[in-house]
Amino acid sequence: MTDTITPPTSSDELVDELRTWLEENWDPDITVGEWWQRLGLSGWAAPILPTNAYGKGLGRNDAVKAQSMIAEFGALGAPGGLGLLLAAPTIATHGTQEQIDLYVRDIVTGVKAWCQLFSEPGAGSDLAGLTTRAVEDGDVWVVNGQKVWTSMGSIADMGMLIARTDVDVPKHQGITWFACDMHQDGIDVRGLREMTGHAMFNEVFISDAHVTTDSIIGGKNNGWAVANTTLAYERSGLGAGGGSAAGGMAMPGSIADQLGRRAGDFVAAPGEAPKVRRRAGGPGGGGSAKLLTDMARGNGKLEDPTIRQDLMRLHTMGELAKYNNLRLKAAKAAGKDIPGMANLSKLAMSDMVRLQRDLGLRIIGAGGTLHAYTEEQRKSLDAATGNPFNGMITGSALFAQGPPIYGGTDQIQRNIIGERTLGLPKEPNNDKVVPFSELPKNA
Ligand SMILES: Cc1cc2nc3c(=O)[nH]c(=O)nc-3n(C[C@H](O)[C@H](O)[C@H](O)COP(=O)(O)OP(=O)(O)OC[C@H]3O[C@@H](n4cnc5c(N)ncnc54)[C@H](O)[C@@H]3O)c2cc1C
Repeated sequence: MTDTITPPTSSDELVDELRTWLEENWDPDITVGEWWQRLGLSGWAAPILPTNAYGKGLGRNDAVKAQSMIAEFGALGAPGGLGLLLAAPTIATHGTQEQIDLYVRDIVTGVKAWCQLFSEPGAGSDLAGLTTRAVEDGDVWVVNGQKVWTSMGSIADMGMLIARTDVDVPKHQGITWFACDMHQDGIDVRGLREMTGHAMFNEVFISDAHVTTDSIIGGKNNGWAVANTTLAYERSGLGAGGGSAAGGMAMPGSIADQLGRRAGDFVAAPGEAPKVRRRAGGPGGGGSAKLLTDMARGNGKLEDPTIRQDLMRLHTMGELAKYNNLRLKAAKAAGKDIPGMANLSKLAMSDMVRLQRDLGLRIIGAGGTLHAYTEEQRKSLDAATGNPFNGMITGSALFAQGPPIYGGTDQIQRNIIGERTLGLPKEPNNDKVVPFSELPKNA
């Protein structure tokens, strides 16, 4: 454990401390698993987490900076995915120290990969209307239901499961957050292919699966509050362009089976761009404006004034996102908050993704009609266009419909800002007082 480490007080100290640590510890010839043990237990895999949860208690900007520094140094980044982005901070916030040591340790060291078992066919925006049931039976709970849109579910060892544990209270009050073992007969994960050609999503059928009482995070029937922590990290992480979810190219967990491979094989060769995976499937914020500018310069489109204008807009939006993050950080450091900022950041991210999509397709022109669905096709596409970024632009364009939906749709973000930040009246609704079992349901 690393809770004796004092958080660095300035960016310079952070840079020095991390560089020294990397010089002493990075070794491309050890395995991914061995490297992630070192990184995770040092606190540098998830420096945003508190020191009692395998982190260093840094703010988001410093944590993102540390992540960039690891990539620039040429070392493999932290285990990416929803474990680090969502499960770890949720468990660090609501879990007991025993649960932190059981679950968060395996996340920061990449031993286990996690997925988010929240959405259901009938419960997405209205997540609190979920119908997956968990029924107590001694020390275990028997779970039945269906989840959908489960990103990376096919390689997950564990799931952040929210299930209904009491139907006789209003819907927000009868939900519990469980850490669910995905390796059991009652869990059936089936892939859903997207128009990008990938099958990142899954549907998960849960039939008499078991979770233990010990695996409840934050208390029985308190799952809505715990889920809101998960969702807040999802919004702020996504609004910041992927945050700590963006890791190296290696995949955590037992199913991806990469822990035994050489760590150095997952990092860029000297002079190559750092290999970084982002959940949104495309270039993030400021980095994308630079990449698109270079591409436009390369094919002469930079002379087009409308493209120049939109590149400037994209750059400006990236800068605004950065300064909003800094404003939030300053407010938090002063013990205050900026209400609605996570929602505003996520809305801004949606706008940036749409602009990146349109701009990228305009820059590559006719190349935008060509997309590779497999690695083999990708090689042919690269050879045909002579542009190794063509496939990335079309992939990002096809995926651009996703970010404005996941983590709460744009419309839901606006509802939240309207109701909770601006104080506008809510839609008439009695679901806060009527027991879930008595609410009207679709047939
Ligand atoms: C790329 C991607 C990854 C995802 N990954 C995961 C994951 O790992 N785990 C997981 O649990 N879920 C995941 N999701 C699911 C995601 O959280 C849901 O898709 C989202 O919450 C919307 O729910 P829904 O699809 O059921 O749409 P619905 O809730 O049915 O909404 C349909 C439309 O109605 C609008 N709408 C609904 N209610 C209102 C309202 N009150 N006011 C105004 N407009 C409204 C919505 O904005 C939307 O346009 C993912 C989704 C995507 C696209």
